[in-house]
Amino acid sequence: MFNISIIMSSFLRKHPVSSMLYGALSSRNAVGVQRRSVHTMSMTLMRQLRKPYAHGSRFKSVKTFCRTMATNDSCGLAQEPHKDSEKNRHNWEVIDSDPFDSLKDRFLKFKKQNYLKNLNHYQNLAEDQSPKFMVIACVDSRVCPSKILGFEPGEAFTVRNVANLVPPYQEHGASETSAALEFAVNTLEVENILIVGHSRCAGIRALMSMEPEDDSKSFIRDWVCVAKGARLSTEAAVGNLCFDAQCTHCEKESINSSLLNLLTYPWIERRLAEGVLSLHGGYYDFTNCSFNKWSMVYRKSLKGGFFSVEKYSTWS
Ligand SMILES: [Zn+2]
Repeated sequence: MFNISIIMSSFLRKHPVSSMLYGALSSRNAVGVQRRSVHTMSMTLMRQLRKPYAHGSRFKSVKTFCRTMATNDSCGLAQEPHKDSEKNRHNWEVIDSDPFDSLKDRFLKFKKQNYLKNLNHYQNLAEDQSPKFMVIACVDSRVCPSKILGFEPGEAFTVRNVANLVPPYQEHGASETSAALEFAVNTLEVENILIVGHSRCAGIRALMSMEPEDDSKSFIRDWVCVAKGARLSTEAAVGNLCFDAQCTHCEKESINSSLLNLLTYPWIERRLAEGVLSLHGGYYDFTNCSFNKWSMVYRKSLKGGFFSVEKYSTWS
């Protein structure tokens, strides 16, 4: 292993992109892969990296090598790949497309067509930000607030979490969402907080699927329990409907639950009372591309003030 480490360390200085594979080799060796096999792999890897490719870089050859090894050795790295076999020859010749190539192209396009054309705007943004919106959205890859609502850089301070939930205020507890709220409200002084829910939310399905007696540990389970009140009110309101319909109801109910939780934050309540902050809910249905939007409105009554959900509108 010592010799292999020297070989690989020297090699990695020249080829840092293969450090991940080196880590895999080292850890595999530590749990008992035969020394000869690892040595063979390191030699094969270096041969492969030296091998010129007609259409790809050496970086791509490392990826191909990793895939070849994973494909041919289901029990670990103890088996030498047979480079000359028909199957392996095919694998060796596969040139993977690098998904980051596309991201690079998109970034350079953004720089050319947006950043450089609006240089003053972006230079001002580099000095400061003053977004009017704070957006709380789900981590779901289909629900990108900037894409569906057209926010430009600097317009929306955004936090995304599983099922777009807001936990209630806890004096001695923090989450990334409460930290983002504190900064957005107290420092950036955003004027609007918008919680964006969406159709077919896996987080809400997890909430609705939880068995009460299930005490298995799960970060998702612990997190979505923030909205257990929404599940209870959903079951009370539409418990007779099919599971999918209940989930759809809960997707919206949980938004209102989170809006109410926002009221438990003293600095949010204060800015609401001052009339410099307003709270909104939104629901993006990507099955038909519609967006529902509503707002929390403060009403006065003989018994005191209260918030109600009003001003529903549908964008479709
Ligand atoms: Zn979701």
